[in-house]
Amino acid sequence: MSDRIFNFSAGPAVMPEPVLERARDEMLNFQDSGMSVMEMSHRSPEFEGILARTERGLRQAMGIPDDYAVLFLQGGASLQFSMVPMNLYLPGRPIDVLHTGAWTEKAIEEIKKVAECRLAASTEAEKFRRLPRPDEIEFNPDASYVHICSNNTIFGTQWRSFPDTGGVPLVADMSSDILSRPVDVSKFGLIFAGAQKNIGPAGVTLVVMRKELAERAPASTPTMLKYATHIKNNSLYNTPPTFGIYMIGLVMDWIEAEGGVVAIEERNEAKAKLLYGTIDATGFYTGTVEKQDRSYMNVNFRIQGSNEELEKKFAKEAEAAGLSGLKGHRSVGGLRASIYNAMPLEGVQTLVDFMREFERKNG
Ligand SMILES: *Cc1c(COP(=O)(O)O)cnc(C)c1O
Repeated sequence: MSDRIFNFSAGPAVMPEPVLERARDEMLNFQDSGMSVMEMSHRSPEFEGILARTERGLRQAMGIPDDYAVLFLQGGASLQFSMVPMNLYLPGRPIDVLHTGAWTEKAIEEIKKVAECRLAASTEAEKFRRLPRPDEIEFNPDASYVHICSNNTIFGTQWRSFPDTGGVPLVADMSSDILSRPVDVSKFGLIFAGAQKNIGPAGVTLVVMRKELAERAPASTPTMLKYATHIKNNSLYNTPPTFGIYMIGLVMDWIEAEGGVVAIEERNEAKAKLLYGTIDATGFYTGTVEKQDRSYMNVNFRIQGSNEELEKKFAKEAEAAGLSGLKGHRSVGGLRASIYNAMPLEGVQTLVDFMREFERKNG
């Protein structure tokens, strides 16, 4: 019997068990090198092999075209809020943002420090309970780029499809839904994601970008904050987060073994439907966002019209039953189940069983 619990934390989050087992097996002696990946020089042939394998795995899983670079950076998704405008802003051409929650708010704050920012749409007036509808979005055809957050981790909304920005590059923060479904990378100028939600441990930030966009950066951009530096040096300008890169490679192997991103998406959809179906079954639980915009990754719900006492009780009893991390984000309250790629259907089934029993006792 495993002593592992079901971890519904928003991030750092659950990892696939086979990945952890393989990392454990290779921990002290990676493929007869006599050392751990953690102990290796980032300039060694062994590590260069790991880096190349991880990049290959990502290119295969995401279908990344050849004119796109794959970069492994640090500073989290949060540093990308600064790095993207520092590199991609064209003076006089404001950056368009689709404002859909706390993470786009942070992006806007950083954009404003180095560039002009314009809102192409915002659902702030509705407390981010839904995404902008197509007829509410007004793009500026002259924008430097458009910033979008594909999955709003805190509010629990997710773009089912991406708006057409014409010739303007689309920059997506995919921190909390990267590789949860197939995405046409060629439709994006740049995609970034902190690894710690869907593809690995904290400490690595993945950037996938059309290489030519890196040429926009002014010469005065600090070396480490320039995409061109990392493209030129294949993410080895300085010491990269080596162990995290290795772990992402193992996650890519796992995705392939599971049948690729298409199979992952099917499973994510089944998990989300099971959970939302339970929320909608009676009036005891209520989903907090409009149905068409519901996230398949972060499922936000309330109990009996926001009964905070019951919600507290729910989180506490769930924790005792081996279901951890269900408390909503401190800024929005309520409950949130994060059901990323690595959360097995069995985990969601266990949660749903717990929810029904909790309702029976407290409804
Ligand atoms: C978690 C998260 C971030 C912040 O990531 P860090 O790696 O902690 O900087 C940014 N955007 C989204 C959508 C997130 O979910």
